[in-house]
Amino acid sequence: MTTELSPDALAGLLDQARQDYAALAARSLKLDLTRGKPAPEQLDLSEDLLSLPGGRYTAADGTDVRNYGGLQGLMELREIFAEVLQVPAGQLLAAGNSSLELMHDCLVHAMLSVVPGAESHWVDQERLAFLCPVPGYDRHFSLCERFGIEMIPVPMTDAGPDMDVVERLVAEDAGIKGIWCVPKYSNPSGISYSDETVARLARMETAAPDFRIFWDNAYAAHHLTDEPTEIADLLGACAQAGHADRAFVFGSTSKITAAGAGVAFFGSSPANVQWLLANNSKRSIGPDKINQLRHVLFLRDADGVRAHMERQRALLQPKFEIVQRILESELGGTGLASWTVPKGGYFVTLEVPEGCAKEVVARAGEAGVVLTPAGATHPYGNDPKDATIRIAPSYPGLAELEQAILGLTACVRLVGYEKLLA
Ligand code: PLP
Repeated sequence: MTTELSPDALAGLLDQARQDYAALAARSLKLDLTRGKPAPEQLDLSEDLLSLPGGRYTAADGTDVRNYGGLQGLMELREIFAEVLQVPAGQLLAAGNSSLELMHDCLVHAMLSVVPGAESHWVDQERLAFLCPVPGYDRHFSLCERFGIEMIPVPMTDAGPDMDVVERLVAEDAGIKGIWCVPKYSNPSGISYSDETVARLARMETAAPDFRIFWDNAYAAHHLTDEPTEIADLLGACAQAGHADRAFVFGSTSKITAAGAGVAFFGSSPANVQWLLANNSKRSIGPDKINQLRHVLFLRDADGVRAHMERQRALLQPKFEIVQRILESELGGTGLASWTVPKGGYFVTLEVPEGCAKEVVARAGEAGVVLTPAGATHPYGNDPKDATIRIAPSYPGLAELEQAILGLTACVRLVGYEKLLA
């Protein structure tokens, strides 16, 4: 890191940062910017869910939702989310309360029962690796660690993972069985994949015949502006490119209705859907169809989802504006940081000078502002540049958030100027 400032000017800035930090610490705040959880007011938007289905127990096809069965989930709910997740309703599964659980299960099933197109169980492979675009979602990385899947980081660009790197790696290495993707309003950068990226993912040649794209479209409907981002249809593109079984699409209503009490979805080729259903039939006699019916009655249709997400946006957008305003006013022009300006999703990524992220997070924690551990955005918790910090602004109230971001910026200035003067 270099600067054009004179040592005296830097010393003055460091002095100011020290005073701001001391003032922050003296306030004994307890502020939390760690997890991307919906705020209570967001959850209140779905309060009516709790009184549904309101004495009605019958699905459109006459199924009594109080009873066992219906492993693929209610068709009327799948029809609503077919559009949102870009998967034909017949190829969509409405499952339990968590998409992460579905990703976990897909990995376990792939390890223990041959996925369509595979020559053997993944667990019998000599080498099992996944590409991990970075920065990425820590829970994807935890799943890989849990199952001993090697993680290979791939840099993100403004259009998604660096496809030159992805294409080269998957073409030469049959041990690479998959890639994690959060294609829209990515966690944590907010980046959305370009049409070109989607097309290249669909058509690239892979050495592994059973290569899978884990397409975690967790933020498919979670816009923060008047111009919703649309991404290309991966499932359709894969089918067209002759790789029909390549895409596993995931999504859920965790950040639409109730986090951890919504409905999760899996979409894929008919062969993959049958594969998952066959495997799931051993672990469950059917999903919670009462919750599914509740969601149908509450959301009604894809327009209903959009209208609901507008109400979510009204609560979230001001929080993202606070983050941008304070980052700009406190760090703009300092040369100490850059950050993303997401058009949707739940996160902002802050890049600080190399070697500073851990220290910033530690100082912030000591002063009462808890941040996601530095490194969590990278496989094995190892951000080789130690530069990336994930900001999750959804949960705190507006005043609290303002304090937290001001506190964070004081820490960035403190650590950044200390380093420049070292
Ligand atoms: N995928 C991504 C990218 C997320 O950010 C999250 C939650 O933060 C999840 C999945 C979890 O989804 P679910 O609640 O459906 O398990």
